[in-house]
Amino acid sequence: MASVLDLIGDTPLIEVTRIDRGPCRLFLKLESANPSGSLKDRPARTMIEAAEADGRLKPGGTIVEATAGNTGLGLALVGGRKGYRTLLVVPDKMAREKVLHAKAMGAEVVITRSEVGKGHPDYYQDLAEAITRRTAGAFFVNQFANPANPRAHETATGPEILRQMDGDVDAIVVGVGSGGTLTGIGRFMRRASPKTAMVLADPEGSVLAPYVETGRMVPAGSWAVEGIGEDFVPPNADLALVSRAFAIPDAESFASARELLRAEGVLAGSSSGTLLAAALRYCRAQAAPKRVVSLVCDSGAKYLSKVFNPIFLAQEGWSHPDRHGTVRDVVVSRYSEGTAVVVRPEDNLRTVFARMRSSDVSQLPVVDASGHVIGLVDESDVLAALLAEREDPDRAFARPVEEVMVRRLETISAEAPIADLLPLFRKDYVAIVMDGDQFLGVATRLDLINYFRITI
Ligand code: PMP
Repeated sequence: MASVLDLIGDTPLIEVTRIDRGPCRLFLKLESANPSGSLKDRPARTMIEAAEADGRLKPGGTIVEATAGNTGLGLALVGGRKGYRTLLVVPDKMAREKVLHAKAMGAEVVITRSEVGKGHPDYYQDLAEAITRRTAGAFFVNQFANPANPRAHETATGPEILRQMDGDVDAIVVGVGSGGTLTGIGRFMRRASPKTAMVLADPEGSVLAPYVETGRMVPAGSWAVEGIGEDFVPPNADLALVSRAFAIPDAESFASARELLRAEGVLAGSSSGTLLAAALRYCRAQAAPKRVVSLVCDSGAKYLSKVFNPIFLAQEGWSHPDRHGTVRDVVVSRYSEGTAVVVRPEDNLRTVFARMRSSDVSQLPVVDASGHVIGLVDESDVLAALLAEREDPDRAFARPVEEVMVRRLETISAEAPIADLLPLFRKDYVAIVMDGDQFLGVATRLDLINYFRITI
């Protein structure tokens, strides 16, 4: 009977057939099929087993790592199965889903600040080192410099790719977080298949692609894709192996991940979107047919609220690039699908509360059967109704919204200039935005703040 650790590696390879690949054939290795859901299960196991073999990690010991994501999940999975305590130091920008996943596997998570740089005691890598020094039996994994990280890919991922491609691969497109994937697969290919070119897919804002293309270090920017891109060259990243590099904007990475799901049914994360976007650019630019491989680094299930969330895309300014300085611009950033969350006058307060909670809004327009807005209900209306019937909250929750809603509405035309919202907000109103006589949506102060964030 196999243990879950036996499921690490030997991941499937599929061919992309419904997206334009120019003259090339493009294949994706589904690293999302690893048990904790990413390519990092492989180095997590080799780094832990190397430390066991040379005595840095002993029974009862503690595994410590600074990680913003998948490495922590891999270590928690492998460490947990082998009976070690796993302690992860994570910057506070790490996705909630990943923190909850690591904790659910039994890892201890120390959250630290993300806005401080190397050398600061709160910087996640410095803090992990300090915790290692003061914890008896602790082993600092250090994926950025640990040679067992690239070795996982040199001894397994690389050979698997070459075997699955029947020994014939022209190019492999990878990203760099720690550099383990690039360096491991690249070293193997240099030996076993010298014709195979390593292509770097890097988020725009990272220093790595400009360094490969120009030899110069540029100041780092910021990017939304998770797991790849760096503000330094990690010791484990052998950039000399790279023959071409592409800097991919976030919007293109996210769009590629969405296209992969729509066209091929593969649910991939944001870094996989960057890899696919670079692979497609590479393939479409070829004059002769090539056999190209890239990776699905992790599953899109971790990014449903970002990559696959139209509201998030609109809030980043990626789905409605045209702006006219009107109230419409503010509203579409929230109601990108054109469907506002509303309630009917006869809906009860339980429905109102459930809808507020699931859509993360604090007020809802009340719309009648003919589509007219007849009122607005917000948290304070629901709370007042509850407090009025404190001894019987069920009865309060059963009341229809038309009994508690506010009927005095402040409407504004979608074509009005944005500045017209300010007097309404100063009076503490939310704005009911009308497209002619059609209700378009609600504009709040938060929507306006976000509008300024993406336009300034
Ligand atoms: N994609 C994702 C989602 C990751 O978490 C990572 C690891 N940070 C990578 C790609 C890159 O892998 P590597 O560390 O081997 O460079």
